[in-house]
Amino acid sequence: KVAAAAAAPILDDLRLQCATPLPLLRHVAGAMAAGMRAGLAVDGAGELKMIPSYVYSLPTGSETGLFYALDLGGTNFRVLRVQLGGKDGRVIDTESEQVSIPKEIMHGTTEELFDFIAARLSNFVAKEGGNFHLQEGWKREIGFTFSFPVKQTSIDSGILIKWTKGFAVSGTAGKDVVACLNAAMERQGLDMSVSALVNDTVGALAGAHYWDEDVMVAVILGTGTNACYIERTESIPKLQHLGLGTGNTIINTEWGAFSDGLPLTEFDRDMDAESINPGEQIFEKTISGMYLGEIVRRVLARMAQESDLFGHSFADKLTEPFVLRTPHLCAMQQDNSDDLGEVESILRDIIGVNQSSVAARRVIVEVSDCIVKRGGRLAGAGIAGILQKMENDSKGLILGRRTVVAMDGGLYENYPQYRSYMVEAMAELLGPQDMEHIVVEHTKDGSGIGAALLAAANSKYA
Ligand code: ADP
Repeated sequence: KVAAAAAAPILDDLRLQCATPLPLLRHVAGAMAAGMRAGLAVDGAGELKMIPSYVYSLPTGSETGLFYALDLGGTNFRVLRVQLGGKDGRVIDTESEQVSIPKEIMHGTTEELFDFIAARLSNFVAKEGGNFHLQEGWKREIGFTFSFPVKQTSIDSGILIKWTKGFAVSGTAGKDVVACLNAAMERQGLDMSVSALVNDTVGALAGAHYWDEDVMVAVILGTGTNACYIERTESIPKLQHLGLGTGNTIINTEWGAFSDGLPLTEFDRDMDAESINPGEQIFEKTISGMYLGEIVRRVLARMAQESDLFGHSFADKLTEPFVLRTPHLCAMQQDNSDDLGEVESILRDIIGVNQSSVAARRVIVEVSDCIVKRGGRLAGAGIAGILQKMENDSKGLILGRRTVVAMDGGLYENYPQYRSYMVEAMAELLGPQDMEHIVVEHTKDGSGIGAALLAAANSKYA
């Protein structure tokens, strides 16, 4: 008990610094809305990039035929086919395959990477059968989900700015990735073409919207985080030169870059300073799955240093960045037993604390809750900010009626406390009346099929 009490001042400080009372959430939501407006007005005017998707035709449900999707965003890529049956048949069947990308390809040339992808795609296409039929006279079309920074100029072209996430492929930066893929498919003798290049969040929104037309916002909360929403073209000053008239499009907010008014601690600042992108993606570093465990680890390391929270068995492993992961926090928070046995075993197995008092275990659960609560509530404030921006600029078109926020990603899916903190903050900000119309809904794998649906909605043949 004495040992745990010595850590109490650090916990008290943490609680204070991570607190997210309503006025703070209001500020965050308002700053999110303001950042959105700034980014829609002029490129680079605010923290939010507000990237146009060039999607002017959302799937309506009446799409028919066979379409493909290709998802490249990490060390695996996924290929998928879907047979669409229009309003009545909807999704008749889907099939997908996952392929891992060998290290030498990730460090090779542009041709090698795209030839590898085209060859695997070709294999997959060769196995087409059963419920899958290409309409006569049509070419196979692909929705290409490409989760790297691109400068998009139309629905079916986009220039790679730079590779991220461990990719070091030479010669691609500055090139149109759609043209690269089309050329590789041609080299493979594969008669297919890319009809839509989409960000994964945009794909998730399109996929969710296909099933439910009231879906207006899609949020991904996984390793990282992002959000996109449906915007009226008139409300995008930076696209006015295109003369689009009235209509809707999807805007990718890239909200991970937001930082205005966030309640940050020294632990956040240290983690950021030691990260590969210091000063960037601060909202992401505060609310997404990659970081929550690491922030908690940093707090515990400080507690272990300044108190004898873990008795004399000081845990070396606690100094190792990213040993404690968000799923561990989640498992600890589900432990309702009196002696917190699950917490004990995580402490032992993950951070090498062989003996812990029940009081110490409680402190650790408290620290986790503090960080997860802040993350969840800030995510909720971000969503409320998006909804408020949409509401204010559409004069009551959003919040007076059923509005669905589609959620995707492993953090949202698996962490019940995070989910409730998020929804709780939304309810506090929006009030019971508006909250009654808002549905927060999980969409499983909306993005995979979403890209194929966008290829269908933007088909060159339909
Ligand atoms: P990604 O975002 O990497 O494309 P996911 O959407 O599946 O993939 O999210 C994975 C992330 O979700 C993990 O990095 C982790 O932070 C979080 N996560 C996975 N499982 C759990 C869990 N049981 N509890 C809490 N968070 C989890």
